[in-house]
Amino acid sequence: MRQRKEQRISRAFYIGRFQPYHTGHHTVLSSIADEVDEIVIGIGSAQRSHEVENPFTAGERVVMISRSLKDLDTDYYVIPIEDIQRNAVWVSHVKSMTPHFDLTYTNNPLVYRLFDEAGVMVKRSPMYQRKTYSGTAIRKKMLTGEAWENLVPDAVAHVIKEVKGVERLREVARDDAW
Ligand code: ATP
Ligand code: MG
Repeated sequence: MRQRKEQRISRAFYIGRFQPYHTGHHTVLSSIADEVDEIVIGIGSAQRSHEVENPFTAGERVVMISRSLKDLDTDYYVIPIEDIQRNAVWVSHVKSMTPHFDLTYTNNPLVYRLFDEAGVMVKRSPMYQRKTYSGTAIRKKMLTGEAWENLVPDAVAHVIKEVKGVERLREVARDDAW
């Protein structure tokens, strides 16, 4: 359990689809962990899985993130959040699913705008070697048979192997003519 610096707990929110959770995300969360007591991680598009862009289930992503964050000196909550097709009330939707948070970190302009309009403090998170560490690039490597394991925390590679994630991705990427 992390030592509390003050009486009041400061809690930050960070959201992504995490298809999969990779070292870029982990680097951002590691630096957020130095600034706040607790982090709420929202797993966006939680209802999606078994798709080329979204191969992993919410449950699988919860395990990937939870196991990876055990290395960090912070307390955290990992919460799946389904899409609602209505940006104007999306922040309320997020808040209905999460513990109270004081601020959000994001580099996504839409997420930034929506939280800002809703009166939530938003800080920009920096990009970490974006060309190397991106979900799209990692899924592409999985499809083409290139090495991807070095781009994710060990715990994530383990979960993906456990659920035969690469085989799943390749199967859902095929067309009907097989
Ligand atoms: P995809 O290519 O599937 O969209 P992604 O790498 O962008 O995957 P997301 O789950 O969409 O991952 O991203 C969650 C948040 O993490 C987004 O705001 C995204 O910009 C940010 N992010 C992604 N890659 C990095 C990185 N290398 N460094 C810092 N932030 C990143
Ligand atoms: Mg993205």
